[in-house]
Amino acid sequence: MRIPYAWGFKVYKNSPTWLQRVFDIALKPIPRSVMLGSGFHEKLKFLRESEKWEYYKLVEFQEKALRKLIEHAYRNVPYYHRIMKERNLHPSDIKKIEDLTKLPILTKDDIRSNFSDIIALNYKEFKPGLAYTSGSTGKPLEFYLDQQNREWEYASQWRQVFWGGIKDVNIKIATFRGDFVFEYGKSDKVARWHGLYKEMIFNSYLLDKEHILKMVEILNKFKPELIKGYPHVLYIVSKTIEEENLALTFSPRVIQTSSEQLPSYMRETIEMTFNTKIFDWYSQSEYVVSMGQCEYGTYHQTMETGIMTLIEDEWGFERLVGTGLWNYSMPFINYVVGDIIESESIKCNCGRGLITVKSLEGRINDIVITPSGKAISGVAFDHYVKHRILHYISTIPEYLHFIQTKLDELVVEIYSTKSLQEADINLLVKELKLLLGNEVDIKIKYLDKLPKVKKWRIVESKVSKI
Ligand SMILES: [Zn+2]
Repeated sequence: MRIPYAWGFKVYKNSPTWLQRVFDIALKPIPRSVMLGSGFHEKLKFLRESEKWEYYKLVEFQEKALRKLIEHAYRNVPYYHRIMKERNLHPSDIKKIEDLTKLPILTKDDIRSNFSDIIALNYKEFKPGLAYTSGSTGKPLEFYLDQQNREWEYASQWRQVFWGGIKDVNIKIATFRGDFVFEYGKSDKVARWHGLYKEMIFNSYLLDKEHILKMVEILNKFKPELIKGYPHVLYIVSKTIEEENLALTFSPRVIQTSSEQLPSYMRETIEMTFNTKIFDWYSQSEYVVSMGQCEYGTYHQTMETGIMTLIEDEWGFERLVGTGLWNYSMPFINYVVGDIIESESIKCNCGRGLITVKSLEGRINDIVITPSGKAISGVAFDHYVKHRILHYISTIPEYLHFIQTKLDELVVEIYSTKSLQEADINLLVKELKLLLGNEVDIKIKYLDKLPKVKKWRIVESKVSKI
């Protein structure tokens, strides 16, 4: 059975809370292996084989998929058809990875300004769902994600979980991500069962001592085999467990972190507290290029799903550019992801032929501390801003940056070519006060030009230096 993910997420997300709870109960008896669907299982099986291939065979696979994608883009995507015509290119001119330089790079602004032309004429065939991300300056980007692209992404993430010694998808999972964003301010619940993901989701917006104690109680009862989450959130939970001398009565087989930078001190604390190993995962909402650490700690790029190239920026940093091989409704070719990558070609002890990467940056955020003692990780903050503010305001600024200057003061730096409406600012202030506390002074600072930033991050804190 093929699970229509985009449709499922949409229905679940748009349902009122009481109906979501009905779904949670109704879906409970269905094992995760069934929920993931046959498309997922085919791909996971494939990936468990292809990871044994040698490098050259993986490149052959990529180039075959690339040729198919280019042929499709030329025939069905008006934007690429025009570009190739202008450059006198035919699909047969792009056969190898190095031929990708014949095509221009694709920025988030290119996607915004050519949105309807970059959608394939036959996009419906690929059962896409609309997704969005925050851009490198905070401006959201909307795009389509194919069903098969989601399946590849999930399968790649699960392959990494299997690298950690887990052998079955029907395991107990606890998640510490931004899932409670819509319930924020309405409930004080620290965790609940999520029927669609089949995960015990924890509330990353309630990270103070009192709530973390409750989380630990739930964790001890639930005993997850896999914990997934943002590094900062798991770090704050771990620190509290350590400081309060709390006992954990289980040890997960794997912790899979993602979405933000994982500094080594955080890794050590989390691994020590949970007595297990972290497998850090890196990807984007666009699912263009992903990579994950193997059991030897080396980052390997998922060559089966994307082609990774690097371009040097004005400061001499190598920035990630990716070509996603499985998104046909809206192909991302030479797409500037923008994160800083340090490439390195080593033969890893795990023996896999997949490309290795030495380090990746660009996921750096600070955490915000509220006057009531809650810690909010940068990525949880980002998630909140995206889902509770940017989606509801009429003018999206070109640049948005939050600086916590004092415990009770947050400066919002805005650069916008179109001036923001009063209602937009009111909503921004209202939602930020709800998150941080009423006593926090929200100061709006308009910038007269777009700042040039080496490494943009949504939030910076002069208060917390965790
Ligand atoms: Zn390895």
